Amino acid sequence: MAWVIGQQLRLYNSLGRRLEDFAPREDEVGLYSCGPTVYSYQHLGNMRPYVFADTLRRALRWKGIPVRHIVNITDVGHAVADSDTGEDKLEVAAAKERRSVEEIASFYTKDYLAAMAALNVRPADVYPRASEYVPQMIEFAKRLEELGYTYELPSGLYFDTSKSPGYGTLALLDVAGQREGARVEQIEGRRNKSDFALWRAEEPGVRRVMRWNSPWGWGAPGWHLECSVMSMSLLGSHFDIHTGGIDHRELHHVNEIAQSEAYLGDGQPWVRYWLHNEFILLDSQKIAKSAGHTLRLADLTEAGYHPMAYRLFLLGGHYRSQLDFTPHAMDAAQATLRRLVNRVSALRPLPAVATLASARELVPADDAAALGYVEQLDAAISADLATPKILAILQDSLRDTTLSEQGLRVVIGAADALLGLCLDTLDVSEVEGRRSVSDLDSSEVETIERLVAERTQARKEKDWARADEIRAELEHLGVQVTDTASGPVWELR
Ligand code: AMP
Ligand code: ZN
Repeated sequence: MAWVIGQQLRLYNSLGRRLEDFAPREDEVGLYSCGPTVYSYQHLGNMRPYVFADTLRRALRWKGIPVRHIVNITDVGHAVADSDTGEDKLEVAAAKERRSVEEIASFYTKDYLAAMAALNVRPADVYPRASEYVPQMIEFAKRLEELGYTYELPSGLYFDTSKSPGYGTLALLDVAGQREGARVEQIEGRRNKSDFALWRAEEPGVRRVMRWNSPWGWGAPGWHLECSVMSMSLLGSHFDIHTGGIDHRELHHVNEIAQSEAYLGDGQPWVRYWLHNEFILLDSQKIAKSAGHTLRLADLTEAGYHPMAYRLFLLGGHYRSQLDFTPHAMDAAQATLRRLVNRVSALRPLPAVATLASARELVPADDAAALGYVEQLDAAISADLATPKILAILQDSLRDTTLSEQGLRVVIGAADALLGLCLDTLDVSEVEGRRSVSDLDSSEVETIERLVAERTQARKEKDWARADEIRAELEHLGVQVTDTASGPVWELR
């Protein structure tokens, strides 16, 4: 095909569960990534979908394909436990923190965007807020109602999944075996267990904080509606790629597809490529807010790690593999980053290489070895975004004494166009080893001492599980506690 530059880009499509050649529908790729629900801080696991989508964008840019990227901000509609009838996550957070929902949304959106910037994730073209699209969501649901896909219950308007012929294909749901869907919540009158809310009506006597009037009474939209409505509104009815965490493959994206294809009714697949990242694990479990995991990027930077070390840690695993987050792995990532920056800083400035075409052009004519590395990088990114392979190629090139200095510069610049580790600008001093106690500020020392005291108390109460939990938390902050005859002492590892 005319657009193919270098190796054919192949991506693993969750729809069909296989590697497929990627071909854009039009000159510009439309990419939609399910974004954060801004009711609390994003944890370390939440960073992965966006670093992964950023890698995909870099791959497309490398191939010279323009991209329009949309990341939604969920500030309404996402109910507690992803259910259809529970309270809105934002309203719960607002009540708990005694702030308005707007303050909650704005505070956590800012924090999310700051984390993205720290991780060198390129900003999306638009970050639509769900709360700004409610009238369109109502129109969308009205259309589904006109088309006969819905039914109304006192608790809201529901999508009848038995009317959607391919329902659950993405999740490989066993439709014949009951249309279970991923969650089973008891809802009075629901026809199929997989039916989901398009509109969540207010319960009698309960007045929500975020509420809109609709043909189905006052209430709020269902969670899945926003992504269908905002993506179509900003990318057109059909677009190329939809991304998100692997949990979305089972429920959220299944429902997005069902309602969107019902709405469009043109017999075409709504979106052709569905890409999902696997989870980041902590102690062999998915990092999840619902499990009380709160570890976030700011905790790592406070403990002396550079955000690029976390990016490097993420890229060291393939996006479709689970990855264990451990202090040891972070130490290793920071050490690797330090060595890379040390080595590369002597070669600066690196040439500006964003595309394969420019890398090929910038390689000196007589440096076949450097050109070979550039082609290897292309093969690796084309093979479903093989970032661990790209890191290995970069390391190989740095050890290769047959490359010219300019050739090596181009290879590093090209690798970093795909990795986004800021190898041209990071200062060696920023990625020095961990800090010593004297670098801690008083609030950090207070936090550590509070945790150590809580652990001592837990041990006194023989609450070993809690004591272990606190020890793990301290370890994640880079603090080691040793129990001595005169009590616990702590130090930075
Ligand atoms: P949320 O803010 O809960 O809607 O989640 C934002 C994104 O993070 C979604 O795409 C989730 O699938 C993804 N996600 C949540 N937990 C993890 C994890 N432990 N590892 C990787 N991705 C995750
Ligand atoms: Zn979504």
